[in-house]
Amino acid sequence: MKKYRLPIIMLVIFEAVAITLWLTLDNIFYLFNFSYIGIAVSLGIFLFVKQYKHARRITQLLVGLYMLVYLGFMSNENMQIEGFWYYLFTGVFEAATIHYAVAKIFGPLLFGRGWCGYACWTAMVLDFLPYKEPDQPRKKIGWIRYITFVASLVFVAALFLANVGNLERIMFWAFIIGNVLYYLVGIVLAYAFKDNRAFCKYICPITVFLKPMSYFSLLRVKCDESKCISCGKCKRVCPMNVDVTDNSRKRENGTECILCFECKRNCPKDAI
Ligand code: SF4
Ligand code: SF4
Ligand code: SF4
Repeated sequence: MKKYRLPIIMLVIFEAVAITLWLTLDNIFYLFNFSYIGIAVSLGIFLFVKQYKHARRITQLLVGLYMLVYLGFMSNENMQIEGFWYYLFTGVFEAATIHYAVAKIFGPLLFGRGWCGYACWTAMVLDFLPYKEPDQPRKKIGWIRYITFVASLVFVAALFLANVGNLERIMFWAFIIGNVLYYLVGIVLAYAFKDNRAFCKYICPITVFLKPMSYFSLLRVKCDESKCISCGKCKRVCPMNVDVTDNSRKRENGTECILCFECKRNCPKDAI
């Protein structure tokens, strides 16, 4: 049973969040929402423990499609960063604000960038592309994320300042157009840089929240230095260029780890 401890813990955490939000906000949607995500995440970890190769992708598709299709397209909830600003400005504690608080702002203190590895609907598509292991050295253009972050804030603030009507409808279309743009830019960059996760590394505005918070993450991938033979395979297969052999929080690209466990699966000495 010991090896199934993590999926059980994750399920309990998500159920605790689901029940707490359901009762405090008196809305059964939160019970359904967080129970579904908890089951999908726990299933993925369970399958990983069982050494099923596509375990992470199963969770990513279950959660990503639910967010994109059900919450986004069917329930008209803008879960992009613009939606977060929008609901923040209107002072409405909606699914998008709760989603950001749990998955992208406070959650990373506990589970780092698990969102990026197991739930994001943008990466869900990008991970189908052929460059799972980056084929080129990392570029020094990560500053672009700050521009996209500010642009998303300015866009929503301008709508409020200009007193534009029918904001709900505009936010719905912003969600559709934003997603199309993310996919287009993500796919073009993946092929240009031969790196599926180039969009995550250089463009994604959400990393402005994710990176500093995940620095303090409780859940971390660590290397057993007594077993490591410094073969370098873990760094080669890492989609985010993390130097996992360095256990310090300041390790190279440490705040980029998406907990995909490719390093662990490929380590010849079971040192991770
Ligand atoms: S960095 Fe952005 S696009 Fe990439 S997985 Fe994370 S949230 Fe999604
Ligand atoms: S793959 Fe394993 S043995 Fe090789 S450097 Fe990484 S941790 Fe060490
Ligand atoms: S390969 Fe390892 S270090 Fe790299 S992102 Fe995945 S879990 Fe993190």
